[in-house]
Formats: sequence, C-alpha cells, structure tokens
Amino acid sequence: MVISICQAVVTYVLLLWFVRVTDGMPDPAQRDLLMRQEASRQTGGRVALTAAEQKLDAYLHQLKEKEMSAAQFPPALHYFKAKPHIQKSSIFKLLQKMPKGAALHIHSSSLVSVEWLVKNVTYRPHCYICFTWDNSVRFLFSDRQPFPRWDCFYWQLLETLRAKIGDPKGFDNSLMQHLTLFTEDPDGEYPSQDVVWEKFEKAFIAAAGLITHAPVLKDYFYKGLGELQLDNIMYLELRSGLSRTYELDGTIHNKVWTLKTFQEVTKKFIADHPDFLGARIIISVHRALGVSEVKAAVKEAIQLQKDFPDVVAGFDMVGREDSGRTLWYFREALSLPTELGVTLPYFFHAGETDDEGTDVDQNILDALLFNTTRIGHGYALAHHPLAKELSRKRNVAVELCPISNQVLKLVSDLRNHPAAVLMSEGHPMVISSDDPSLFGTTGLSYDFYEAFVGIGGLKANLGTLKELAVNSIRYSSLPAQLKDTGYAMWQRKWDAFIVDQS
Ligand SMILES: [Zn+2]
Repeated sequence: MVISICQAVVTYVLLLWFVRVTDGMPDPAQRDLLMRQEASRQTGGRVALTAAEQKLDAYLHQLKEKEMSAAQFPPALHYFKAKPHIQKSSIFKLLQKMPKGAALHIHSSSLVSVEWLVKNVTYRPHCYICFTWDNSVRFLFSDRQPFPRWDCFYWQLLETLRAKIGDPKGFDNSLMQHLTLFTEDPDGEYPSQDVVWEKFEKAFIAAAGLITHAPVLKDYFYKGLGELQLDNIMYLELRSGLSRTYELDGTIHNKVWTLKTFQEVTKKFIADHPDFLGARIIISVHRALGVSEVKAAVKEAIQLQKDFPDVVAGFDMVGREDSGRTLWYFREALSLPTELGVTLPYFFHAGETDDEGTDVDQNILDALLFNTTRIGHGYALAHHPLAKELSRKRNVAVELCPISNQVLKLVSDLRNHPAAVLMSEGHPMVISSDDPSLFGTTGLSYDFYEAFVGIGGLKANLGTLKELAVNSIRYSSLPAQLKDTGYAMWQRKWDAFIVDQS
C-alpha cells in the first residue's frame, strides 16, 4: 500500500514536471516513459508475463496488427455480419482454447443454442406448437390436445405438422428464427432499439414453453454447462427468474424444485467433468413488476438464499432499463434486507442505456448506493465520474457484454464502446455474453474477441486477457475458499494453455 502511494506521488510529480519542461521538441526517452506509465494503468497493465507468455503476446500482437489492417475489421461490423469473419480469425481460435475462467452474466432463458432447442427438444414426443396472431410461436408439451388459450387458439402436434410440411430443414430454420435475433440483415430488420427489444422479448416468450418443461429443463442446464465447458469456461453465475416448470400431465413445480434441479444437474456435471468448478444462480425479477410484487420477490430471495446458500448468489432486476422502472422506484423493496438485518447480495443491471441524464441513467449510482456486488453492463458508467470512482474504490466490477450492447443498438462500431475508457484505466471488469442463444454466440470467446480486438485495440495484450480471466473468479460470488480452488484450477489450465501454444 505504502509503495503504491509512493508510486502514485512519483508518477504525478513526474507528469507535472514533464508538462512544464517540454516546450520544444519532446524528449523521446521521457515520451517513452509516459507511454509506458499510461499503458501500465490499463486492464492487465501490471501483469508480469513469463518468457513463454511474452512470446505468445508478441505473436498475438502481430495477428492483431494484421486483422486491424484488413479490409473488413470485425468489431466495426454488426456482429451478425462479423461472425463469419471472426470464426476465421486466428485470434478467435486462440481465444477459444484460452481458459477464460467464469461467465458471470448470462440469462437462463438464453443459455443454450437454438440449434439444440429446435433439433433436439422440438423433436421430442408430445411437443405442440401454436402460431400466434403477432407472428410468434408458443410451444407446449402435453399428453393430450392442449386447450385453447387467449394467445393460442389452435395447437398442433409438431410431429404431425412436420410430416405434413415435407421440408423439415426449411421448417426448422423458420422455428429457429423465432427463437433468436440472428438475421442476415440486422440494420434493415432492427431499425431502432424499440424494434429489436420487441423481438427480443418475443423470442424469450417463444422459448419459455420448451425450457420450462421439467424434463427438458434438466437436459437444458446440463447442455448449457457443456457448451460453456467446451469454450474453456469453468464456472457460471446464471441469472434466472426460476420460472415454474410443468410436467406432461400438467403438474406444476415451484421455484424450490428448479433450484434443487439446478443443484443436482450441476453436481452431476461436475462428477462427469471434474475440471468444472460449479454454477450458482442470481435470482432475477422483471422491472415491469410493482413495488409490492418486488417486495415479495426480495423476501422470497432472502429465504431461498438461506435455504440454498451454495446455489443462490443473490438478486437482480431484469428487463429493458429504458422502458422499465428504475431501481430508485423500487427503493422500499430493495431496502428490505437491511431493514430485516439480513444480507442479500445484489447484482444489478444498471446503465444499459445511452440516454444521458434520465432517471434510468441514475440506475448506476443507485445500484452502488444499494451496495451492488457487480454492475451488469454499466454502459453509462464512463460518463458518471463519481459513480465510477465509487465502483473502483469498492471493487465493484462491470460485467461487459459487448455483443449484447451492439445487437441491442447502444453502439454500432465496437471501437467506440465506452468500456474502452474503463479498460484503459484498468477499471474492475469481467467479460460476459448476456444472451448467447439470442445473439448466436456460444461461450465467451466471441465477446472476448470483440473486447480484446475491438474495445481494447492494439494495446490490449496477453496481460489484459489474463487479468480478465482472473477477474472472473475474483469478482465472482464464490466464498474465499472456493475462489482459491478456482484460482488454482484456472492457473493449471492456463499453464497448460501456454505450453500448448509454445
Ligand atoms: Zn443481462
């Protein structure tokens, strides 16, 4: 601590001195020193690299120079158009192999790829489909013909429908279109944030009938962990509303069932894959609810966390911030844990907006005032100097989800993402994917690519990647002892990765 204060004083004095004396031609040595001092502030700027790591770093730098000078620079394109370019990138292939630590910001309804939902789940017996008036779909598993509902008058057994249609590939592709935002013409199809968010919410509702079928949910969690593990991720914190699940005969299971199922599936997955650390849930409720409903949800989350301390990490509010209610609106509900003298860690989405100065824009500060453990997105943080200071001092990491921010139209060219500022200052940060199935990503490699190549630019290096991976364990909700296990596990994987690359 004393050393870092001394360092800061020396740096400050040196900088002042330089500014005063460089009237004529700047001294190249001093210039070099300033550049190195500035670089040391960035994410990973103080990470010491071994000889083998330096070699890999030099190689990465070369690759990056090449990709940055290519005719099509993926981070400057919409991700849907960039995806085929990214898949060909040597940096991306390396990122896929790199142990990335943990995924700390993923929503349960969009955890697993839509290919699996359509090719596997919709081919299971007793799966019914209904086409709604607003050009969406609903699914339902039932052992008898389902009754008409307000949004669904006519349910058809998928097996029968498929036999009638005769073009299974085309039909399956059309089903996938309902479950994802992915399209070849993103700018034409989604001209505004409103349009893209409307499709976003529709896709969630369409997938719900498949995912909330109890037997599917078990396989879904397992498959989700598998997709992460394949991308070299070893731990997950999943935001979930713990929706009620249903059996074929219509029996309904409650939230406790979902939590227990999640716990059992995670245990089984670890038994099958001992190099996977685990998974926890952040209970989330929609910000469209009223204060009394959120109060009840907070109370319930307190109880569930008490009953499942190993599984429940905390609480969050989800849904579009710009059109939803603010954290301050829910202040009575969110103060409940303190009033009751209990702890319920918060992991608030905050600042997922580009509307400066609005009530929504204050969510960032309010999240911090409610002692949030991390900030989901924090897209607006860069222009809130005080909140930024607070978040840095309290070690409240930002969960950066670049592809999500781009697809949901906060930024188009990812080089202009405000996190570039945070990254150059070494602000506490982790990388995540938010809604992989909706954006057509798997794991974290695509988001790491955009953050590393686009947002970090040429100056982001192997130290940056190493720090981002370590951060994902450091800023996780895991208790200290499990974090130590996590660090050791990650380090072993990292060392093997470096040996593999040299
Ligand atoms: Zn999110």
